[in-house]
Amino acid sequence: AFITFEGGEGAGKSTHIRFLAESLRDRDREVLCLREPGGTGIGEQLRAIVLDPANDDMSDETELLVYEAARAQIVAQVIKPALERGAVVLCDRFTDSTVAYQAAGRGLSREFVDRANSFACQGVRPDRTILLVTGGSAGTGLARATRRTGADRLERAGEDFHARVNKAFLEIAHDEPARVRVVESGGKKSSTAAAVFAELADLFPW
Ligand code: C5P
Repeated sequence: AFITFEGGEGAGKSTHIRFLAESLRDRDREVLCLREPGGTGIGEQLRAIVLDPANDDMSDETELLVYEAARAQIVAQVIKPALERGAVVLCDRFTDSTVAYQAAGRGLSREFVDRANSFACQGVRPDRTILLVTGGSAGTGLARATRRTGADRLERAGEDFHARVNKAFLEIAHDEPARVRVVESGGKKSSTAAAVFAELADLFPW
């Protein structure tokens, strides 16, 4: 099974991926935890390029293609083979992040982003996507993430940008309710974890 986690910065994606991975491993499942961009040698190099404050002058088009290049590599090298051998793949961000950040956030063509996503994915699609949302203002998770990582060029993009990103994630969830499940992550970690497990109950007999 292929499960992706989406949401704004500081929504708790990495924490809940870790909880889910531990729980699946306790049940003797092979679990791969990946992050986008990254997860391969080439992908980590591309991640460093896209997150480097020195690359502030990167054009939006370049940014999109770097994300898609990293995605094409991780799909071919890691995700496809893992799914073929029956592993569970948990991915921190995937195609929905590109729709939210590069199309809605940066204003690039949604149609082109959709085509670039399917080109990079070569038929691989998430079976389920957990969209983690923090109830308060769009700024809450952002403030948490900025404290944690220091502001990078993406996080400095401003409140409007993040409002468009968060809205886009919710629209995707609205359009694809069977795949995308919205989980509120503002409360206790244990309640969020329980809600995540509940949204996956049909995929894994707990
Ligand atoms: O929350 P996470 O650590 O995954 O975010 C990494 C950074 O990459 C974030 O600042 C996010 O805004 C950005 N990002 C992006 N476009 C994507 C995926 C992530 O701008 N497609």
